[in-house]
Amino acid sequence: MILAVSTSKNLPSPASGYRGRFAPSPTGPLHAGSLVAALGSWLDARKNRGKWLLRIEDLDTPRCIPEATQQIQAQLLSCGLTWDEGIIYQSQRQEAYQSALDRLNDLKCLYACTCSRQTIANTLASLGIETPRNQEMVYPGTCRPAELIGNPIQAFGDGNKAWRIALPKNCLIQFRDLALGMQSQNLNTEVGDFVLRRSDGLFTYQLAVVVDDAEQGITHIVRGQDLLSNTARQIYLQEVLGYQRPEYLHLPLVLDEHGEKLSKQTLATQINTRDERHSLLELRKAAKHLGLQDLPDGVNTTIAEWLLAATHAWKN
Ligand code: GLU
Ligand code: ZN
Repeated sequence: MILAVSTSKNLPSPASGYRGRFAPSPTGPLHAGSLVAALGSWLDARKNRGKWLLRIEDLDTPRCIPEATQQIQAQLLSCGLTWDEGIIYQSQRQEAYQSALDRLNDLKCLYACTCSRQTIANTLASLGIETPRNQEMVYPGTCRPAELIGNPIQAFGDGNKAWRIALPKNCLIQFRDLALGMQSQNLNTEVGDFVLRRSDGLFTYQLAVVVDDAEQGITHIVRGQDLLSNTARQIYLQEVLGYQRPEYLHLPLVLDEHGEKLSKQTLATQINTRDERHSLLELRKAAKHLGLQDLPDGVNTTIAEWLLAATHAWKN
C-alpha cells in the first residue's frame, strides 16, 4: 500500500494519557445496546484512570431528533456515567471536516462521483457482482479519473456530487482489536473508494469521526461491534491525514429476540432511568452483557458504589 505522507497540526498529544469517548448519534434516547457501549467505554476509561468524553454525533441532521441530545445526557447522568470536559457537537464542526477534506484534496486523493445507488447497483450487476442483502455495495470506481488531480476548491460547493477517497492498490488494513484480536480488511475488494462528503453536502461519519477522534486526542475507542467493519476505513484515513492510530476495543452487541441488533430502526425501547433503582437495574443488565461477574446485587448499593465495584471488575 502506498501511503501519502502528511503532517498533523495542532493535535493534543495522546501521550498525555488515556482519553476515551462515547459518541452517540442523537437519533433517539439510549437503549440497552447503547448503554452497553456507554458503560463499557466509561469503565475502560475509569479503570485506566483516563478521561471519558462525550461527543454528540448529530451530523446526519435529517435523522437526528432534537430532544434526543438532552435525553441521552440525562440518561447518562442518571446512571452515574459522568463525562470529563465539554461536549463536542459534530453539527458545529463543519469547518474542521472541510479543512481535512481540503488536505486530502491537496494530496490528490479525492474525486467527484455522480453515481446514484441505482447506477452503482446496475454497474455491479453488469459486472456479475451480487451484493448480499444488508451489505454495502463495493464501489466499482466508475467515476475515478485515470489521473488524480487536486480539484479546484470551488468544485466542492457546486452540489450533486459526492466526494470519494481514491484508495491505493492492495489497501489491506490490519489491526489488533483489544477484545477480538487480529482483524484485517481489504478495502479495495470489501469497500471500494468510499464517500467522505455526500452529494447533499453532508460530511460522512467516516471522515467526521476520524477528525474528531484525532482533534480530541482520543487514545482508546471502545464501542459496539456493529462498528467493527468501519474501523479499517478509519485507520486508513488516519494514516493519510497523519493522525495517531488509537487502540480499538469492540464490545459484544445486544441482539433482540429475532437476533437483530437493537436500534431505533428495530424500535428498541429506551432504558428506564426513572429513579436510581431502575437505573441500577439497567446498569446491571449492561454489565452482565459485558461479562462482568460478582457485582453487588444492587439491593443496598448506591450507583456510585456499584460503579466502583464494576470498575474494579473490568478486565481490559
Ligand atoms: N455515532 C455512532 C453511533 O452511534 C458511533 C460512533 C463511534 O463510536 O465511532 O453508531
Ligand atoms: Zn461515481
